[in-house]
Amino acid sequence: MLRILSIAAAFALLASPASNAEEKARPVVLATLFPVVDFAREIAGDLAEIVPLLPPGAEAHSYSPTPSDMMRLSGARLFLYVSDGMETWVPGLVADAPASLLVRAVAPESSAYFGEEARTHEHDASCAHGPLGLDPHIWLDPLRAQAMADRIADALAEADPSHAGTYRANCTALQNRIMELHAEIETGLAGCSNRTIICGGHFAFGHFAERYGLRHLSPYEGFSPNAQPSPRALAELVRTLRETKTSAIFYEEILDPRLARVLADEAGAQLLPLHSMHNMTKEDIAAGATYFTLMRRNLDSLRQGLGCAP
Ligand SMILES: [Zn+2]
Repeated sequence: MLRILSIAAAFALLASPASNAEEKARPVVLATLFPVVDFAREIAGDLAEIVPLLPPGAEAHSYSPTPSDMMRLSGARLFLYVSDGMETWVPGLVADAPASLLVRAVAPESSAYFGEEARTHEHDASCAHGPLGLDPHIWLDPLRAQAMADRIADALAEADPSHAGTYRANCTALQNRIMELHAEIETGLAGCSNRTIICGGHFAFGHFAERYGLRHLSPYEGFSPNAQPSPRALAELVRTLRETKTSAIFYEEILDPRLARVLADEAGAQLLPLHSMHNMTKEDIAAGATYFTLMRRNLDSLRQGLGCAP
C-alpha cells in the first residue's frame, strides 16, 4: 500500500512540473502595429501569447524603444513588425537580440512601396501630395492585409512548428473574413458622387485609395507623419477645396486635427475621421476595437463624406 501511494505521489510530482513546462511552452510573440497584433491574436488563438510592444497612443513611425522593450526581447520567441520602411526603429532594437528570437517583417515584399502602377501613372496638377514615396501602410488595403496574414501564420508556424496546422487553418478563416470586408468596401464605394479623399493630415491611405479607385489629396509630402506641409501645398489645396465644393475633410486619429479643422472651416466642409490603425488609444482598447470594426467605421466615414449611394 505504502509503495502504491509513493508511486502515486511520484507521478503527482512528475505531473505538476510537466504541466508547468507546457504552460511555459506557450510562445511569447511581440508585435508592433495594431493590425499585426490583431491578426496574430486571431491566428494564434490560445496557442501563443501576443504582446503589443507599443504603449497605447505611441506614435509608431518614430517610436523610441525603451530599456524595458529591450528586456522583453529576451523572454520572447518571435518578434513581428510590418517593414523596415514603417517601423524604422526596429532594426536597431533587434540588432542585439538573443539568437533564439525569430524576427520577421510581415509586409509582402512586392507591396512595401506604392504600387508599380502608381509610380508610372500621371498625377494631375491639382494633386498636392508631392512625389509618390514609400507608402508603408499596407494593412489598409485588405488584399495586402491578406498577404500579411499569410506571413504572420508562416512566422508563427516557424516559431512553433507543432501547431503549424492550426495556425494555417485560423489564417484561412481570417482571410475569408478579410475577403468579405473587401467585397463590402468595393460595393460601398461603388456609387459615390465624389472620388477624392481630401485629408488634412499625413496620408496613410495610398494603398487603400489605389485599391478602390479613389484619388487622394493631402498637403503633406509623402507618407511620413513628421513632414510639414509647405505653404504652397496648403494654398493649392485650399484652391482645390473651393473649386470642387468639397463637403468633407478627413483626418487621422493619430495626429492633432488642427490643420484639418482649419481646412474644413475654410471650405465649409464637415470633418470626418479615418482610423489608420498604426496604434490603439486606451479608448480604442476599452471599446474592443478590431481591424474589422475600424475598417467598417472608415467605410462609414467615406460613404458619408464622398456622397455614396445608399
Ligand atoms: Zn503612418
